[in-house]
Amino acid sequence: MTHSDDTTRLLARIEGYRDEMVAFQRDLTAVVALGPDNGGDGEWLRAEFIKERARSFGLDDVMELHAADARVTAGFRPNLLFRVRGRAERPTVWVMAHMDTVPPGELFLWRGDPYVAVVEGDIIVGRGVEDNQQGLTSGLFALRALVEEAVVPATDVCLLLVSDEETGNAFGVEHVLGAAPELFHAEDLIIVPDAGAPEGALLEVAEKSTLWVRFVVRGRQVHASIPAAGINAHRGSATLAVRLDARLHAAFCDEDPLFEPPVSTFEPTKREANVPNVNTVPGEDTFYFDCRLLPTHSIDEVKSVIAEVIREVESGLGVTIEIGYPAELPAAPPTAIDSPVVEVLSDAIRELRGISPVAIGIGGGTVAAVFRRRGLPAVVWATLEETAHSPNEYCRIDNLVADAKVFGRVFARGL
Ligand SMILES: [Zn+2]
Repeated sequence: MTHSDDTTRLLARIEGYRDEMVAFQRDLTAVVALGPDNGGDGEWLRAEFIKERARSFGLDDVMELHAADARVTAGFRPNLLFRVRGRAERPTVWVMAHMDTVPPGELFLWRGDPYVAVVEGDIIVGRGVEDNQQGLTSGLFALRALVEEAVVPATDVCLLLVSDEETGNAFGVEHVLGAAPELFHAEDLIIVPDAGAPEGALLEVAEKSTLWVRFVVRGRQVHASIPAAGINAHRGSATLAVRLDARLHAAFCDEDPLFEPPVSTFEPTKREANVPNVNTVPGEDTFYFDCRLLPTHSIDEVKSVIAEVIREVESGLGVTIEIGYPAELPAAPPTAIDSPVVEVLSDAIRELRGISPVAIGIGGGTVAAVFRRRGLPAVVWATLEETAHSPNEYCRIDNLVADAKVFGRVFARGL
């Protein structure tokens, strides 16, 4: 594959940043950025650090979209938008990463101080180095390469760095989209490097709806030696769980090969403690189902099948069943697999790595849904080892550089 001169220079420039990218990751790790819900003081210091570095790289077009939050010293949660102007504004190419991290968890599980990033061979170990500092660093250095090589992209290129991804997005991307919706257009290309696979071959474009269901089954507590004098709530919940399992799987059996797994899932999960002793028939029993629905099945349809099964179990066993929904999140409309962002990103990956990327849907929600709900096509992609939130979280240095090159190639598309 032959590149234009601009692309060749960009890619060489990015390769030349390798050691600086590692040093930047190390410095970034030392500036802790935990949201108040995670016991921290927010992302302000980290945002200041990034702004200062970006300025030294020549990235001086920065817009700040603070979200007021009285719980942190700064009084707000920062959101930063770095822009490099293209020959035209639209369609704007976006890379979005988050500045906050999760806490380290149990310190004894770490080989060293989680906030002192250490290079071990070809990896960097430290809290946040993969989630989401890898994407942040790759995006920032790809942008820097444009400036330092004086490459003017075909259209504007933006790096959006947000707060609060780990604790709900209200002060991060949700705030940005609410405060400045005019920044984004449906024809823009939005890349979120916050999940992915080790080879970088998976582009996440869709997700399932999530429904969590809590069942509180009530009967009448009694000594286990005279069960007929009571109503066994445990039998009620066990019967209900088995019937739901069969009925939900039978009723919602569509398959869609875009998704992994390709079917809706219905899993009995958590069970709360009932009686502490063996010789008592419990009068109350509580358990949960985690349901992930392909977009072709609606949450309401699932709720009505659940209600039907509940009525049968109530009348058959004499229990009463209370139902609750601790989480209910309809799937965002998928990003079309032939949308420009999927095509441009796939072309760059194919060209630079010689692999054929595959678009997939997943069961878990991602921050890209925030865009998709507003009709903005977003793809989640990065080359990751999937060590996010783990002790000894690490980032492969080759991935840091290689993903920056993919961004550089996307930024230089059409040149
Ligand atoms: Zn993340």
